[in-house]
Amino acid sequence: MTIALDHGPLRERVARFLADDPGRLLIGGRWVAASDTFASLDPATGETLAHVARASAGDVDAAVRAASAALESAAWARMRPADRSKLLWRIADVMEEHLDDLAELETLDQGKSLGTARFGEVPAAISQFRYYAGWPTKITGETIPTSLTRTPEGKDVFAYTRREPVGVVAAIVPWNSPLIMTAMKLAPALAAGCTIVLKPAENTSLSALYLGRLLQEAGLPDGVVNIVTGYGHETGQSLVEHRGVAKIAFTGSTAVGKKLVATASDRLARLTLELGGKSPSIILPDADLSAAVAGVSRGIFDNGGQVCVASARIYAHRDVYDDVVAGMAAAGDALRLGHGLAVGTDLGPLVSETQARRVAAYVDEGAADGVTVVTGGERTGSAGTFFTPTVLTDVPPHARLMREEIFGPVAVVTPFDDLDEVVGWANDSDYGLAASIWTEGLSNAHRVAARLQAGTVWVNCHSFLGPELPKGGHKESGWGYENGAQGLENYLETKSVVMVV
Ligand code: NAD
Repeated sequence: MTIALDHGPLRERVARFLADDPGRLLIGGRWVAASDTFASLDPATGETLAHVARASAGDVDAAVRAASAALESAAWARMRPADRSKLLWRIADVMEEHLDDLAELETLDQGKSLGTARFGEVPAAISQFRYYAGWPTKITGETIPTSLTRTPEGKDVFAYTRREPVGVVAAIVPWNSPLIMTAMKLAPALAAGCTIVLKPAENTSLSALYLGRLLQEAGLPDGVVNIVTGYGHETGQSLVEHRGVAKIAFTGSTAVGKKLVATASDRLARLTLELGGKSPSIILPDADLSAAVAGVSRGIFDNGGQVCVASARIYAHRDVYDDVVAGMAAAGDALRLGHGLAVGTDLGPLVSETQARRVAAYVDEGAADGVTVVTGGERTGSAGTFFTPTVLTDVPPHARLMREEIFGPVAVVTPFDDLDEVVGWANDSDYGLAASIWTEGLSNAHRVAARLQAGTVWVNCHSFLGPELPKGGHKESGWGYENGAQGLENYLETKSVVMVV
């Protein structure tokens, strides 16, 4: 298999950004050096793109202090709601002016195809800021008639609630879709009036650092967003343990999410967790089959399967099972692997050699245990980071391939005969992030949607997400919801004010 790695010259602003030492931390409005750095690699080639700062506990402390100071500053705390709205809209405008740069940088650093970044994820990140720009002017308390006794002097009791920002937010994001994950935390937190210390994933920090410059260009007051780059067990750990952090907003693996529960419980810090998944897709015999096959194939192969809601478990009714397996294999085989910036690439590399090895280990284990590899299953490319789209069958329900999140382009397809049986299989998972059902029958669609244990259920589509739609995980896929009005609630406290008048 040939993998196209050549691509044209980088956009001028991206080349300048990479040459201009991105290895600094944004603290209190200033870009400061850390005592150490590490390399951020182009996953397609293994070449170093830039050196990124490795923030120490001291750097994290400085960032949290800067965020705490900004929280109390007149420039932020007293900014009128209408002005906060304008600022969020302005951030979206500035991002849009740099849309092609952000997309190119995201592709270089993460590996995804330019099409995915340019037409999917970067516009989705921008839409987060536009959606939440509407909220600052709509955050209101209530006046509440109480039944409290009047005072002996006959005075009344007047009570109302205020909605206040929760405080300094530690926003911690993963590497699969870095910019959109960042925007999903920054936009609602800013709308609520919080200040933030952002920790991008160590593999993919560059778009966050570029965004930091855009936030400054848009006029965000100093210290409102601070960015500390570094490893999870060092920088991330120092951040979540910091007593100045009131709220931890985390997207990442269930394993790390569970550790954060322990850390946060120590001081009862607010915590939302957007975690892993092993999402089922159920294809009924009356489905529009070509739409279903295309939809679930995109659902598992897009972004190399490095998608929390990826359609990893496909259950196809026995009447259509052979067609689904053949159709998915053909869809996977048709994808052209290459550097995300190379012309014609459909699928880039996985984010790192480590991740590609991890994916390969799952498939190799399955093959050794008698799983049928219908197509794919190969780790390839000069840096060992590409993985061919893979379709597996004959995977037993207890196998790791069926139960664990692989985070690669690996679909497991299983036949079923009975609707009750398949709903049971779909729900037989520790995860509960998302699911899809494919049918032309309205009754079955609604019935199955109600029975599936998942934060999002799609009917005749998969991975359809938007800033107005609450997104979260049931079971071990998370705590709380992002997006929409519920996403804003994550960043607000309520205060009752009771007065005798
Ligand atoms: P990860 O849990 O390893 O890391 C996520 C982030 O946490 C990174 O920034 C990392 O540096 C940091 N981190 C790691 N250990 C930490 C610690 N002890 N303290 C503080 N921070 C720490 O996850 P990943 O491998 O980067 O991302 C893949 C995972 O993210 C998958 O499980 C995927 O399903 C999940 N994810 C979930 C959603 C969702 O919305 N539910 C979206 C995208 C990705």
